Formats: sequence, C-alpha cells, structure tokens
Amino acid sequence: MLKKTKIVATVGPSTTEKETLLKMIQEGVNVFRINFSHGTYDDHIAAVKKIKEADVELGTHTAILADLQGPKIRIGAMPDEGLLLSNGDEFVLTNSEKKRTKLSAFISYKGLPADVQKGEKILLDDGKIVLETVHTDKKTTITTKVIAGGLLYSRKGVNLPDTVISTSSLTEKDKADLEVALNNNVDWVGFSFVRNAREIIELRHLITQHGGNAKIIAKIEKPEAVENLEAIIEESDAIMVARGDLGVEIPLEKVPLLQKKIVTHSRQLAKPVIIATQMMESMMDNITPNRAEVNDVANAVMDGADAVMLSGETSVGKHPIEVIKIMTRIIKEVEEKFEPLYIHESIPKKNHERFITDSICFNVCRLAQRIDAKGIVTMTHSGYTAFKISSQRPKSDIFVFSSNKKLLETLSLVWGVSTYYYNKTVSTDHTIADIKYLLKESNLVESGDLLINTASIPLKESGKTNMLKLSYID
Ligand code: PGA
Ligand code: MN
Repeated sequence: MLKKTKIVATVGPSTTEKETLLKMIQEGVNVFRINFSHGTYDDHIAAVKKIKEADVELGTHTAILADLQGPKIRIGAMPDEGLLLSNGDEFVLTNSEKKRTKLSAFISYKGLPADVQKGEKILLDDGKIVLETVHTDKKTTITTKVIAGGLLYSRKGVNLPDTVISTSSLTEKDKADLEVALNNNVDWVGFSFVRNAREIIELRHLITQHGGNAKIIAKIEKPEAVENLEAIIEESDAIMVARGDLGVEIPLEKVPLLQKKIVTHSRQLAKPVIIATQMMESMMDNITPNRAEVNDVANAVMDGADAVMLSGETSVGKHPIEVIKIMTRIIKEVEEKFEPLYIHESIPKKNHERFITDSICFNVCRLAQRIDAKGIVTMTHSGYTAFKISSQRPKSDIFVFSSNKKLLETLSLVWGVSTYYYNKTVSTDHTIADIKYLLKESNLVESGDLLINTASIPLKESGKTNMLKLSYID
C-alpha cells in the first residue's frame, strides 16, 4: 500500500540544494511550500526551478504551494539582547518612528491605532507577551499595560484576537507576491488570515484575471474564519488548520477539537485539509522528535487529514531529510493498523449536477471495499473524480492518469492519490488495457490483483465519468 497521507514541506535555507529536495521527495514529500513571509523572489524562483528539475529526474509531480503572508503584523527592530517588559509596565506601540520612547515598539500596520479599542488585548511573539490597550490616539500611538511580560525581540508577530481589522486580508505585498507565484505556475496559493468566503472569491478573481488556474488553500487562523468556517470551506479548494496563529487568536485549548471539526467537515465536502505547525518542532535541532510530537502527527493522520505540514523543521532545521523519514514511518504505521481511517461513504445527491459522476465514485468505493480491490484508476480531466473518490477514503490505491501535468501536481496534495502522466487517447478499451500494463510494469499491481477503472465513454468527449470496469491484472 502506498503512503496515503501527504507531507507538505516548507523550503528555505536548509533546502537550497537540489539533492536535498530530491531525497525529500523520495522519502515522502508530496508538496513543497514556498513561504512568502521570508526570502527573496530570487530565492523562490530558484526553489521552483530545482523542484521541477528534481521532478523530471524522479518522474514525480510534486505540488508547489505559494503561501502568501497576509496581513501579518510585526513589530520593528528591538535591541539585540531584547527589551524586558515587566508586568504592569506602560508600553507604547506606534506606527511613527518619531513617537518612539524607551518602552515602545514600532508596528508595521499603519491602521492599528485606528482599529484597536480600549480594553482589547494585543499579543506579541505568539502570545508569549500579553498587552492590554489603555488608550489609542487613533492615529499613531497606542498606550498599553503589560499583562504578561517577557523579553521582546525584533520583528516578532502581533496578534489581535479582539480587534476588527479594517483592511483587506489581501495586502499590496500579497498581490505582488501572487503575481510572482502565478508567473512561476504554482499549483496552490495559501491565503493567510482569511476571514470570510467573500475574500476567497476576491483572491480567485485575481488569479483568474491573471489567467492562472492555481487553487486556493484557506488558512484557518482567525476567530472570524472559525465563525465563517462552512462558507469558507465551500468556497475554497483546500483548507489549512494553521495552528500557529490560530492558537494565539483563539484560546489554545480550543484548537484540538477545532482541528477534528475542520478535518471532518472538509473531507465531507471533498476539500483536502492540511494540519500545520509545530508537528516536529523539536527536530529543528534534534535528530529524533519528542514523544508528544509523534502522537500529534499520528493523531492528525487518525483524524483523517489529507496532509501534515512541516515549517521551520525543513526550511531552517538541521535535519530536513531525517524529519521526512520519521514522519513517513509514523504515517505508514497508522495507515496500516488504524481501520477507522477508511471508508467514509458520501451518498450522492439526486438533484446534484454531478449526480452520475458522484454515483460512480460512490459505487467505486463501495465495490473496492467489498472485493478488496488493489487499486482504483481514474482518468480525470478536472480532478473532480480524484477529489471525490479520495474523500471517501478507500483502502485501495487511487491511481490518477492524465496528460495534464499541472493537474497531476495539484492532485499530489490529495489523500491516497498517486499520479501518472499519460497522453494516449486511442479508445477506452485500449487505454484501460494499456494502463493495466503500465501499472504492472511499475510494480504497483501484480497478477491476480483486482483493479477498478473509471472512465467516460465515449472517450473522445472526455466528459464526465460515467462508467466503471472491474477486472483482474493478468
Ligand atoms: P504561517 O501559517 O506559518 O504562515 O504563520 C501557519 C500557522 O499559522 O500555523
Ligand atoms: Mn499563520
């Protein structure tokens, strides 16, 4: 059985060598994430180029996710040794360097003094430092009281769980970054700090305007996004449980159950879902993860996530290859033994425009379970059948064949799916026989295995999936 749960790995200074990327793919990476919060355009473009080269060498279709920073607010430069904030101190945040006093920090978001209200909490450095707003002049300067102090270092993040931010979640920087990402033909775009479905529509409009077809991952990391969860999932192509910021923006004890809820809901709507942040954090330095991290990865797999993600572990960590090896081992162990992971039927709705395709997908999964099929083959054109079959979590491998390389890359994020390039279109009969032969040649199936093919007949119309065929591998 192939590994079903996917691994997303962030690139960075630790992964500048093509050899490293190549090994990471071999050890189980399915998606590389380019984080537009760090690095230069040259870095990003170089990363894309090397990933593509590695893919050509390996015959793989690794997806590339361009993660936009969104309205992440940061403080400016602080002394190298940090600035000590003690409980009860008065501390000033200002958007004007002129207004700086000894106990103050510059804030990158100009509109903050206007948006924040008296009494609202301001969290610094992932919530390690807590401030309460005492006064704002609504223009340049916010006066706060330190509720939980600590050492404050340069460029730490600012979170505002209580405040309604008035700007769009897509900043000017995001729009410029999006342009670079789309020019480099990325498969997925991550939308940070999204608050509602309308913002997803806005981003999709920008992508379409650019002539791109990149798909959108909504990062759930704001209380507003949690409130609008259903609509956001409907409107997006995939979801990320962005636990880093989420656990600061909402009480951290709410994150575990929310993770389960987001995973279940996304799967029901056939939208891939990624669990992100601090999964193997200690492996940034250490050669093995701590036990709680092993449990966290295993539990994300058991929850039914499509993918687990690595951030600093692979971008700046010391062991970018080792961490993938260990993650793959954890994933495979759970997938082999944890039966509740499998078979989540999605009953087709009669009035749905894809009723025929949905019915085929539903029955393919049922049949696969009944007969213990080795694999399900789909020749998808839009990816619809791949998303739909995957969401029902069959135990059989899902082999996707397409002549559209971009689509194959995109589908690399999706649970249980493996992707193969195929560009011959003689007849459905011929294609099915040919693919069976190719799968056997590649040792993905063997004589006596049962295989289910889905297809659309007539093939020429390459329209919606409307048939299934069951056969033995000769
Ligand atoms: P980030 O998103 O790494 O871009 O902040 C993930 C998270 O917040 O968990
Ligand atoms: Mn985040």
